[in-house]
Amino acid sequence: MTQYFSTRGGVRGASFTDVLLTGLAPDGGLFIPETWPEVDRTALARMAGTPYADIAFQVIKPFVGGDIPDRDLKRMLEEVYRGQFDHAAVAPMVQIGPNAWIMELFHGPTLAFKDYALQLLGRLFDYVLEQRGERVTIVGATSGDTGSAAIEACRHCKNIDIFILHPNGRTSEVQRRQMTTIDAPNVFNIALEGTFDDCQSLVKEMFGDKKFNDEVKLSAVNSINWARIMAQIVYYFTAALSLGAPDRKVSFAVPTGNFGNIYAAYCARRMGLPIERLVIGSNRNDILTRFFETGIMQAGAVEPSLSPSMDIQISSNFERYLCDAMNRDTKSLGILMKAFKEQGKFTLGDEFMHKTRNEFDARRCSDEQTSEMMKACYRETGYMIDPHTAVGLFSAWQVRQDPSVPLIALACAHPAKFPDAVEKATGIRPDLPERMADLYEREEHYDVLPNKLADIQKYIRERRTAA
Ligand SMILES: *Cc1c(COP(=O)(O)O)cnc(C)c1O
Repeated sequence: MTQYFSTRGGVRGASFTDVLLTGLAPDGGLFIPETWPEVDRTALARMAGTPYADIAFQVIKPFVGGDIPDRDLKRMLEEVYRGQFDHAAVAPMVQIGPNAWIMELFHGPTLAFKDYALQLLGRLFDYVLEQRGERVTIVGATSGDTGSAAIEACRHCKNIDIFILHPNGRTSEVQRRQMTTIDAPNVFNIALEGTFDDCQSLVKEMFGDKKFNDEVKLSAVNSINWARIMAQIVYYFTAALSLGAPDRKVSFAVPTGNFGNIYAAYCARRMGLPIERLVIGSNRNDILTRFFETGIMQAGAVEPSLSPSMDIQISSNFERYLCDAMNRDTKSLGILMKAFKEQGKFTLGDEFMHKTRNEFDARRCSDEQTSEMMKACYRETGYMIDPHTAVGLFSAWQVRQDPSVPLIALACAHPAKFPDAVEKATGIRPDLPERMADLYEREEHYDVLPNKLADIQKYIRERRTAA
């Protein structure tokens, strides 16, 4: 049975369901598995050609470690990966050049890759809560993307109420409508009179208010939840298998913010998937790329870019990789993370950096280069990519050395989610997929509230459906 420990060493032997419901470890660290399950050549070869939901079961089962009976886990995976995605391959591959491919991760309900994990996470949460006879209130702040994916994930959950705060009038219309057009008794959209930072600090304050927290049982589905990483490992397997694994290695290019998606690729490699290069793509918020260049991890100010879902200056999930890279020396890691928190900076030596650079390549892509990439891709192939995908693809071309290794760039969002940037680059405004074509006609549900903690708490108390 796979057990989990915290990267700061304060927790050992945690079960999958504990890790699922807790998210962040009580010592401030992140959970990782005590051992990496291995998928050998024979097992890989057997997976080739089987449906996404079946591969998901093979990959995920060892991490769940008997906490959930196989038949229930299978049922949930079928529900998600046969029912909630609009393409039979779930994460289909499109060729865009000689031995170069795009993996489309936008076939879920909100047109971005976060659906691939959050759709499963919602069901896992609901299942475990039901077993334990518990209910939770999920509260989150969003500048656009994550909120809609979380709402879509929880709308059918019996044991969850979800309240998402967004800054009133400051999200794009597509993003707002994806959240507010959902009509479900357990979904509440709060348009806050304030900025995204105001939304975030209110959420933080609510989590810090013990009395309120105990009363409504606050929970989060944030990007450091291990189960999200786990679900994302699956599509690295399906992609590599479709291009010839285990007999052929592939490389991946991943646009990166919180280091979640690229960390899932690293996990797949640790499990035995033959991966040649892992390329990290940053936009101007390039803390990771600077770290790979200099060995110094230092946060800067967040600057807006054409790829807003990566406008982040702290890549939380990097701590998970660091833990392995430091041979799981949780004590030293704890000291490093403390220094980062207090001084906003840490430095690692040459020997360490040599090892790390063997594991990843990191490049950055400016807004101009992002637009150029979207334009060039469209001109040369007729295929439209979104700005995040462009950052990954651009970075991949910078480092590509061996064209005999298939290159797979992840398309993390549908171009119609960022229509202005795409139109500016290509001259063409991308259409929403057919199933979403009436998004602009659907009725919206949200309440505008003042930027006051007491008002928000009152709203949540009065509306949550749990007794
Ligand atoms: C969240 C997001 C990213 C960044 O992913 P991380 O897991 O935080 O590295 C990139 N692109 C899009 C479209 C996203 O929504």
